[in-house]
Amino acid sequence: MQVSKESMSWYEKTNDLLTANNIAVRFAEFAHEEPVIDFKIAQQILKRCWKKYAGFKLGSHVKIKQTSGNRYTWIRHGEISINTHKDWGEFIHDLSHLIQTRSRPLKKYKRGRAYHCPEHAILEYKIARDVLEFVSKKEAA
Ligand SMILES: [Zn+2]
Repeated sequence: MQVSKESMSWYEKTNDLLTANNIAVRFAEFAHEEPVIDFKIAQQILKRCWKKYAGFKLGSHVKIKQTSGNRYTWIRHGEISINTHKDWGEFIHDLSHLIQTRSRPLKKYKRGRAYHCPEHAILEYKIARDVLEFVSKKEAA
């Protein structure tokens, strides 16, 4: 898939931001044996970012569970699985795809498809910033 220069520069910005904050970027490593991200924190971030960027609250009927292995963080049959065995970089990337395809108005994006357009790259960057802010607050508490 062709990724534009504009998108690439945003993906690089995200990676630089995460690296500067000692957070593993995407493709840094494959899935880990043990969880590497906190499920509770990931859930809270998911809900907040959903509301902030999708433009509506994630329904309380949507179940959120933990998964592992090479699975993506994604929604299936109204149930969101968060892969806690992959790094924050993967979570941020998958979550930005998920939110993009659900954001309103929906006309622009097809559900279940991943777009590597500048809008996605910018959304990924914003979510990365939110994750850093949220994680540092949790650690300080
Ligand atoms: Zn992608």
